[in-house]
Amino acid sequence: MIESKNPYTGELIEKFKELTKSEIDKALDKASNRFKKWRKTSFKERAELMNKAAQELKKNKEEYARDISLEMGKPITQAIAEIEKCAWVCEYYAENAENHLAPKKIKTDASKSYVSYEPIGVVLAVMPWNYPFWQVFRFAAPALMSGNIGVLKHASNVMRSANNIQKVFERAGFPDDCFQNLVLGSSKIEDIIKDKRIKAVTLTGSKPAGAAVASTAGSEIKKSVLELGGSNALVVFKDANIEESIETCVMARFQNTGQSCIAGKRLILHENIVDEFVEGFVKKVRELKSGDPLDEDTFIGTLAREDLAEDLEKQIQDSVKAGAMIVLGGKRDKAYLEPTVLTGVTSEMSMFREETFGPAIGVTTFKTDQEAIELVNLSEFGLGVSIFTENMDFAEKIVPEFEDGAVFVNELVKSDPRLPFGGTKISGYGRELSADGIREFVNKKTVYFK
Ligand code: NDP
Repeated sequence: MIESKNPYTGELIEKFKELTKSEIDKALDKASNRFKKWRKTSFKERAELMNKAAQELKKNKEEYARDISLEMGKPITQAIAEIEKCAWVCEYYAENAENHLAPKKIKTDASKSYVSYEPIGVVLAVMPWNYPFWQVFRFAAPALMSGNIGVLKHASNVMRSANNIQKVFERAGFPDDCFQNLVLGSSKIEDIIKDKRIKAVTLTGSKPAGAAVASTAGSEIKKSVLELGGSNALVVFKDANIEESIETCVMARFQNTGQSCIAGKRLILHENIVDEFVEGFVKKVRELKSGDPLDEDTFIGTLAREDLAEDLEKQIQDSVKAGAMIVLGGKRDKAYLEPTVLTGVTSEMSMFREETFGPAIGVTTFKTDQEAIELVNLSEFGLGVSIFTENMDFAEKIVPEFEDGAVFVNELVKSDPRLPFGGTKISGYGRELSADGIREFVNKKTVYFK
């Protein structure tokens, strides 16, 4: 049995029976049979259904959001915002998929030659709990619009949300089996990836999970896309607008109770502004209201599981042992960890080197621009970086110096259906969203007429 537990109360929410081998077999059969028909539907038919999915999300956002808050402790207003963003990605691909996948003419010595973007079949998505709806919809909307079929293996602690996502597509009127949630633990994934009916796999989650899934996919010569988290830096140069950058950095780190791959996790400040910045930053963080995730005033909920809060507490304590100072927070109560700020963090400490998945941040200082760039690039992650400066020429000049998949200037790194999203280094490979995302799982077929 797979269990969903409320991390705020510790209560059991629901138990789910794992699929048996023959039930998995049946599900994959249904998915591959559906593909034979679905691939032949027009963009117009798919778009109508995808727009209905968006309507369904908007109509019942409170219902879906409540289950997210119960299962993983996300404050309810942020859970509702997550559902609304899912509606946006559905509408975005309903409107743009046909254009993104329009055949691309290429002039050669042929009488006609072009690239045709065609669906490949059933794609498996292995997904995490931190944005239980968004992570799945940013895969599902382009997958279904391209003519593929989706099967989901969601994180074990958010299985009710996983079932709800299947329900969204059913309620929208999608034909049966276009999108199925497989109630499974991760030990069954290897066999599923190896199954001939699965054509590719996408995973969002930790490095060990990504490495396991990608190795299996690689051994079967199947395409994979990996989105494995990050340790984004927030770099504040000495000419930055301090007040505005404090606001943005607080949101970058603490929204979703800090459990976001693209959260700003390393605060890298010029030595001239460090005192003023830290004072203002701590003041703002102190104002964030912790409490019951179902309370509309709550901004900081619990972490999704107690073990995740324990891991973060250990990273804080290890850094303190190595010389960092806690200037705010630091205490844990079961799955809740106080919003925490540390100063004096150096590049050798856990708070800098490792991904910190929760409401805690360390401050590191720099003297020169070059030193700031080097600190950013020291991370083995490469998802994104935010830089804060009033000098746009300087910002343009240093953008190429960063090794990350995204650079945001005077803004927190955020995902947007119109922009490609993905990382470098151990943050993974491949891109989601935009035209790049929908072209990951298609056959880019070269066509040549003599
Ligand atoms: P995991 O990476 O373990 O879980 C993500 C998904 O992968 C889940 O569906 C999980 O299933 C599945 N999974 C785990 N191991 C395997 C495997 N060997 N083969 C196939 N599938 C697998 O994340 P955790 O929940 O353990 O979180 C640990 C850390 O991962 C976090 O602290 C954070 O650093 C990072 N993380 C990053 C995320 C991101 O957005 N990039 C999201 C979540 C976590 P199951 O739940 O059944 O184990």
